[in-house]
Amino acid sequence: MTELSGGPALPQERRLVTAIPGPKSQELLARKGAAVAAGVGSVLPVFAARAGGGVIEDVDGNSLIDFGSGIAVTSVGSSAEAVVRRASAQLADFTHTCFMVTPYEGYIAVCEELAKLTPGDHAKKSALFNSGAEAVENAVKIARAYTKRQAVVVFDHGYHGRTNLTMALTAKNMPYKHSFGPFAPEVYRVPVAYPYRWLTGAENCAEEAAAQAIDMISKQVGAENVAAIVIEPVLGEGGFIEPAKGFLPKIVEFAKDNGIVFVADEIQSGFCRTGQWFACEDEGIVPDLITTAKGIAGGLPLAAVTGRAEIMDAAHSGGLGGTYGGNPVACAAALGSIETMRELDLNAKAKRIEEVMKGRLGAMQEKFEIIGDIRGRGAMIAIELVQPGSKDPNPSATGALAKACHAAGLVVLTCGTYGNVLRFLPPLVIGEDLLNEGLDILEEAFTQL
Ligand SMILES: *Cc1c(COP(=O)(O)O)cnc(C)c1O
Repeated sequence: MTELSGGPALPQERRLVTAIPGPKSQELLARKGAAVAAGVGSVLPVFAARAGGGVIEDVDGNSLIDFGSGIAVTSVGSSAEAVVRRASAQLADFTHTCFMVTPYEGYIAVCEELAKLTPGDHAKKSALFNSGAEAVENAVKIARAYTKRQAVVVFDHGYHGRTNLTMALTAKNMPYKHSFGPFAPEVYRVPVAYPYRWLTGAENCAEEAAAQAIDMISKQVGAENVAAIVIEPVLGEGGFIEPAKGFLPKIVEFAKDNGIVFVADEIQSGFCRTGQWFACEDEGIVPDLITTAKGIAGGLPLAAVTGRAEIMDAAHSGGLGGTYGGNPVACAAALGSIETMRELDLNAKAKRIEEVMKGRLGAMQEKFEIIGDIRGRGAMIAIELVQPGSKDPNPSATGALAKACHAAGLVVLTCGTYGNVLRFLPPLVIGEDLLNEGLDILEEAFTQL
């Protein structure tokens, strides 16, 4: 039992009472096929009935261990007590007035928390939106208004969303961009320091990648034309790539020297996910702007751009916003989520998850040759799978392992430019027994492969 879930307390156990998917999920799958657009895919063929702590219960009564958190969203657990309490109270008071019409306190309180929690002690302001992609788009708008320049620099393996501008910022064609062009102009992509795949070796990676990136920006774009450099401090969809230490500080310095707004996209890596409030803290980086979403509001849709007051204020009044941006219920949920992160010290929990996971995965790597790399921080951990005896990507084993885990009642996700990365994003409140049981399932899946 957990005291962390809002609704009827959900037993914190894995329980399989039908095949996966069970009959009720199969019925819903048929209805999905008939009513929902084919482009909207789902990783698992099971339908959720309840979720909380470290489990998701499906409509057939199966209870699955959750190593996905709905893609790094329910870090505080689904229906966390403080989220439910605060959001319910707000629901009863008012659901919407539109902050651009008659504003309310919750929005301001979230912006005040963001100013406190994000790196740097300079004056900060925020603007709130609904989705991560919207936050990234607005960061670009703000940077352009501030610099009066147009170009945006992004990186290999980067992911920033599915709207037109953020598709342009995203690296991977399939499934994010294919057949959806033309894309927004003035977007330029440069190399990132991906240590495992750097051709001259991991030790040279930071220096060489930074030099190449800076050379490309200077020669092909012109630093004086660049409004913003946008990067994920730990690249998410691209494969949980941690840029080699030293790379990010060099890019930040280049941005600073050239009047370019440095934007850290912490939509996946932020809010305790990596064992810090924000992943860029690990190298002492203070971004000019930071985009957040996913983990911020315990499952309700909310996103933010936070940054230096003088940059944030560059857009004219009325230039930023949106009908639902900073919805009062989502703001209340964010305040509950942040309260939970503080009270339960979820940064420490994330670090403990890393310790357990890396210990177990390291032991698996000794046994299973196809585990090429183990990486990530906190509760944002991944393994990159390769062909035996090489570094050639192994997407088929990755898919087969994910499927085997799903059938055994463990929710895991894949990612990576080459589709060969298994990623683990458990809720930070997951019990250690469930965490280990999930890793047992993974190990068994490797043995069976
Ligand atoms: C998920 C994600 C986005 C997009 O967020 P949405 O809420 O899906 O629009 C942008 N950047 C990063 C790093 C992400 O992980």
